[in-house]
Amino acid sequence: MQALAYYLDQPSGTFTAKQQDVPDPGPGEVRLRVAKTSVCQSDVVIYKVGLPRIKEWPALLLHEVCCVVDAVGDGVTKFAPGDLVGIGCDIPCGDLDCIYCGRDGTGDWTSCPNTQATGHEFPGFARSHAVLPAWFVELGPIVKFPPGFNPDHACQLEPLACCLEGMTRVNACIENRIVVLLGAGSQSTYALQCAQAMGARKIILVNRGAERLERVLRDFGDDTVVGVRWDDNVVENVLRECLPFNEPHFVMVNAPAQPAYELAPKLMGYGTVLDAHAGVKGAAGKPRIAHEVDLNNDIHYRLQVYQATHGSSMRGINLAAQFLSDGKLPKLDLMTNDSERFKHDKIPQAIARASDSDSLKVIIDWD
Ligand SMILES: [Zn+2]
Ligand SMILES: [Zn+2]
Repeated sequence: MQALAYYLDQPSGTFTAKQQDVPDPGPGEVRLRVAKTSVCQSDVVIYKVGLPRIKEWPALLLHEVCCVVDAVGDGVTKFAPGDLVGIGCDIPCGDLDCIYCGRDGTGDWTSCPNTQATGHEFPGFARSHAVLPAWFVELGPIVKFPPGFNPDHACQLEPLACCLEGMTRVNACIENRIVVLLGAGSQSTYALQCAQAMGARKIILVNRGAERLERVLRDFGDDTVVGVRWDDNVVENVLRECLPFNEPHFVMVNAPAQPAYELAPKLMGYGTVLDAHAGVKGAAGKPRIAHEVDLNNDIHYRLQVYQATHGSSMRGINLAAQFLSDGKLPKLDLMTNDSERFKHDKIPQAIARASDSDSLKVIIDWD
């Protein structure tokens, strides 16, 4: 069959629509019709400056996606035509014997030396149809949603999974605890909703710009949520909001900038968990950001945890699918307003909107 695909020729280049042939699925394979894609901040970066992991141009961007199963190959029993499925970005390397990604593997795909991701090494979903290889269908991040499930929510499976990986790698730091979120972009807005769903005692949202902070507080706030401006007094203002505790219990760095890594350690107290969730990457590569930790007094005696997550494994994907299917994020639709919805022939406009300082989640419709 013929399918439509939008190839970006080079960073800061142009998208060109192309008709291409999509085969029938072979044994173990699944053919998908793309329903919705949402735009990740990494798509904005790839569009503007590219990414070393993308070796081949023209490239197919977009990795946050939900699809309708269009046809299945021989031997596929998990999926049937008509199923709505969500797909992750980090995927197995394809080697069925790999100790990370294979049938007997740990499932830690991002630790595999041959790790790959959709929209990076593996083609993204800026296309109307895709055939997933058998190893992807068997081992990869593809989950089925209940009949009638909202595709606008299903396409946000992957970014939500990444967020939940960060919030659940260390146990017992969210429920009944004080959560600090640095940045008020989409990852912090998912984290805020998850923290509410997980029963956080208080959520402190820290952001430089007023516009997005106000949007998030207005649409997602309740009596557990406060906003703090990221100015010269941010440390004392956050710590004051933690009272009567002396410190927050969980600090999530969702701003991919060095100042966030300078601020976060200043908020560490007794038992605080820091999730270095957003990495810092510039034209000059990944800068070294040093911070001295006393392994005896800080880590042992004060029980501090410095951890990070990036991307998502099947664990995060399953958790996100469960949160979505159980309706644990009832305000999710508010992350996408009318100015953040586009048809598939407006990908450049969608990416431009996603790079605005007040934008939360841009969704592209493929129907
Ligand atoms: Zn993403
Ligand atoms: Zn592997």
